[in-house]
Amino acid sequence: MSLLEVQDQFDSDDKCLEYLFRVRWPEGFHCPRCRHDQYYRLTTRGLYKCKSCHYQVSVTAGTIFHRTKVSLRKWFWLIYRMATSKTGVSIVEMGRELAIKDYKTIWVMAHKIRQAMGQRDAQYRLAGLVELDDSFFGPTSSEGKRGRGSERKITVLIAVSIYTDREGKERPGFAHAQVVSDVSAETVDHFLDRLGVAPPDKEFLIEEIRTDGWRSYRKAANDKGIGHHRVILRDPKMAGHLLPWTHRFVSNAKAVFRGPHRGVSTKHLQRYLSEACYRFNRRYWGPQLFHRLLFAFTAGTEITRDQLLAPDS
Ligand SMILES: [Zn+2]
Repeated sequence: MSLLEVQDQFDSDDKCLEYLFRVRWPEGFHCPRCRHDQYYRLTTRGLYKCKSCHYQVSVTAGTIFHRTKVSLRKWFWLIYRMATSKTGVSIVEMGRELAIKDYKTIWVMAHKIRQAMGQRDAQYRLAGLVELDDSFFGPTSSEGKRGRGSERKITVLIAVSIYTDREGKERPGFAHAQVVSDVSAETVDHFLDRLGVAPPDKEFLIEEIRTDGWRSYRKAANDKGIGHHRVILRDPKMAGHLLPWTHRFVSNAKAVFRGPHRGVSTKHLQRYLSEACYRFNRRYWGPQLFHRLLFAFTAGTEITRDQLLAPDS
C-alpha cells in the first residue's frame, strides 16, 4: 500500500473506525455478551450499543487505540510509517509531521506500537537450525563479548532460524532478540524454550544451534538433546562470515539505535529490539504489511502510558 493510498483510504477518523469495525466484526456486528447482531451507534468515537441487552462496546476496546485522545488518522499514519520504514522513523520528525506537539504523547504512541509488534512476534516459533549469539548494547559504541562489558551495557541474546533454499543456499527465516541479565546456560535454556516450544503438546522444534561455542550454548544444547554446531572463530572479525545472520541483525539494529533512537535505555531497549525483529521478520511482505499490522493491533493486551513513563526500576 502506497503512501497516497493510505492517505486516501483513511482520510478521516470515521474511515479508520469503519476499518477497525470490519476487522473486529468481519461478519457484521456481534454483541460480545449475547451475540445479538443489531446495534445502535452511540458516538462518533466508535461506541456501539447492543439493541437486545444494551451492552455497550467500543470498537477500540483491547486495542492500542483505546481511550486515545489522538486522532486515529494520526495513529494509522504513524503505524504505516513505522511498519514500512527500512530503518525506523525519528519520533521527533513524526511529531512534526503529525502536528503532535507534546513529545511524550508521540513517544508513548511509538512504544505502544513497538510493544504490539513484540507481542505479535512472541506467537511465532523457531524450528530446525538456529543461529544463536549474544551481543552488548549500550551507550558506548565499542563492541564487546560477554564478561568484558561495562555495567551500563545491556546483554542481548539473538536467534535467527536458518533454512536452505532450492539452490542449496542458506537463508534467514525468523529472528528473535531478547534482553537478558547474563549468558548463563540457564538463561540460554529459557530463551530456547521460549523460541522453540510449540503449543499445544509442547513439542520442541529447534533441532540444532549454531554458535561460537561458548560453554553456555554447549551446555544448553546438551541439556536439550539437540545438535550444537560450533563455528571456529580464530578472529572475532570473522564472526560476520561465520554467524552472518545474527551479526547482520545486530549491526542493523545498532545503526538504527545510533540514529533516530539516540539514547536507548535499559527499560525500553526490548521494545526497540521487538521493532527491529518485526521489520526483519516481515522484510518480504511488501504492501500487505500495513494491514497485517493494523489487524494485529486489534488483538492483544495493552501497555499503559503510566507504565511506559514510570522511572526505570
Ligand atoms: Zn447484547
